[in-house]
Amino acid sequence: MSGIRPTGFLHLGNYFGALRNYVKMQESYTCFFMVADLHSLTTHPDTKELKAHVHRVLAENIASGLDPDKAALYCQSHVPETTELYLYLNMLAYKGELEKTTTFKEKARLQPDNMNAGLLTYPVLQTADIIIHRASLVPVGKDQEQHLEMARNFVNRFNHRYGEVFPEPMAFNFGEELVKVPSLDGTGKMSKSENQHATLYLADSDEMIRKKIMKAQTDSGPTEPGTPKPAYIENLFLLMKLVSGADVLESFEQAYQECRIRYGDMKKQLAEDMIAFIGPIREKAEAIRNDHSYLRQVMEKGAEKARASSGATMKLVREHMGLNYY
Ligand code: ADP
Repeated sequence: MSGIRPTGFLHLGNYFGALRNYVKMQESYTCFFMVADLHSLTTHPDTKELKAHVHRVLAENIASGLDPDKAALYCQSHVPETTELYLYLNMLAYKGELEKTTTFKEKARLQPDNMNAGLLTYPVLQTADIIIHRASLVPVGKDQEQHLEMARNFVNRFNHRYGEVFPEPMAFNFGEELVKVPSLDGTGKMSKSENQHATLYLADSDEMIRKKIMKAQTDSGPTEPGTPKPAYIENLFLLMKLVSGADVLESFEQAYQECRIRYGDMKKQLAEDMIAFIGPIREKAEAIRNDHSYLRQVMEKGAEKARASSGATMKLVREHMGLNYY
């Protein structure tokens, strides 16, 4: 189980941290993938734009290879059982631990005038999203590790108090390291809402991709063999590893080690490989995004599968909690 907020355009971080694993997982697991529209309300977006954003996220998921016939692809607000579970879990979540969450502290810095309770309890709703399907594997990027640790705490508290209902959810990446895709300016991660000029979006035009990559920071190159790569150069190699062939990566790695690397050439190569990667996804997503009746069918089918699973869990939850009076 996993989700992505409809807060903007999907980017390379979403693809390599999340979507790529969704597509692999749908072949061998029962999967639930959700557009987290309720989560997006914590930052008070203009809700007139929600519909277009939800459609975009759905289309970009499908264009990246997610098959709505294999996995359940749905909208969070179409599954009201989640909000009931969220309420029960809130009784097991403590103010102190919620205030210590890194993402909460980060939001407190960015939007000090909107420290609402939904923002504080974000990890609780996220836990409800996951365990409503009694899911144990959560394909997410590295930025979500702390939230999953909190989810395990809430699960253990629930199971301890009311009896074993939920498995412990774990971040999942097919046994590989969790990925963090850095922003092109080397100052953080690629993101829907921040670092936009230094983030590569799945909807970026070829020209835009070229422009952003060519602007990435470099220097005059190493002068002595064995010089460690500065963070902004490491980032370029990391991006190249994601989208270029192994031989291409190897040749630039060698050029770096031998102090003859030309970063202009490296960025040109990276831009062309990135265009070959993003271009087909962009075009497919564009076509799906404009097919509203297809998107409606996808959402209805997804909600039906998700509600069947959530309904069964909530029955179990109410029984274990003693909320059954007939
Ligand atoms: P964003 O941070 O861009 O708003 P979300 O919070 O909706 O994205 O996260 C959706 C998924 O994408 C999560 O699984 C998250 O771990 C992953 N993700 C987001 N940014 C990155 C990144 N730069 N690198 C790796 N994974 C990422």
